[in-house]
Amino acid sequence: MGEAHLFIISGPSGAGKGTLVKELLRRVPDLWVSVSATTRVPRPGEKDGIDYFFLTPSEFEVRARHGEFLEHAEVHGNRYGTLRAPVERRLAHDVDVMLEIDPQGAAQVRKVMDRSRLIFVKAPTTEDLEKRIRYRGAESEEQLRTRLKTAERELAVEGMYDFVVINDDVSRATDELVAYIRSLSEDATGTAGAPSAL
Ligand code: 5GP
Repeated sequence: MGEAHLFIISGPSGAGKGTLVKELLRRVPDLWVSVSATTRVPRPGEKDGIDYFFLTPSEFEVRARHGEFLEHAEVHGNRYGTLRAPVERRLAHDVDVMLEIDPQGAAQVRKVMDRSRLIFVKAPTTEDLEKRIRYRGAESEEQLRTRLKTAERELAVEGMYDFVVINDDVSRATDELVAYIRSLSEDATGTAGAPSAL
């Protein structure tokens, strides 16, 4: 029996991680994507329990103190964390798991879980990145500047990642990701094309 994988996907906001993960799920439906907790306020259309578990700062703090997070970090002035129990439950049942988290969180998880595989998503150029964040329109000028600054820092940690994908075209980038994920599953089972989860 192969050990289930823990995939961690990071990248600057605006690099198109969300779209890539959605596409990836269509192609690899047996992958389970963790829902993070955050103290950030919901954007229009975001749903509690689906996009995030939206917590107050004190609710977040209590959970952090009780060790309920596999990792947690502050990003753009808000707290974000991966709930430990649902991730461990899936892995124990041989289900591959995907976390969409920032590089601080990725480094924390890698330290405690050997099976983690880190994937970094990049926009083709910084101009593209800025255009995409602006196009999304959800940010004030100040928030935009914070996000671009974080993006610069995140690009500097790219070397920590096992696999880097440039999101110049969603369908091409998804092909690359699917090939990477499948190659690892084949390594683990020794069987070409074997399903990665029960
Ligand atoms: P957003 O507010 O745009 O949804 O997410 C902002 C950043 O927080 C993104 O870089 C995202 O990857 C990161 N993030 C989301 N969930 C988590 C989490 O559970 N842990 C950590 N460390 N970062 C997260």
